[in-house]
Amino acid sequence: MKKIKTIGCEEALKHLLAYLDQELGPAKRRELEHHIEICRTCFSRAEFEKLLKTQLREAGRETVGAAFEEKIKSLLGRF
Ligand SMILES: [Zn+2]
Repeated sequence: MKKIKTIGCEEALKHLLAYLDQELGPAKRRELEHHIEICRTCFSRAEFEKLLKTQLREAGRETVGAAFEEKIKSLLGRF
């Protein structure tokens, strides 16, 4: 079995966005996945970025965008 190179948090974060965009090569991808498995901080960070990407994508859709706007308005209306 081939040993996976262990990368540090700095390197993991540097490649995180490319990883989430599926732009990493297989070797780097494996290193990052390995790091996320062992590092709680980077795991949370990856989950957060993933969530953010999903929400941005959904905000791009008009219906969701309008609903979001209504929500903001109703929140603002309370003050
Ligand atoms: Zn880390």
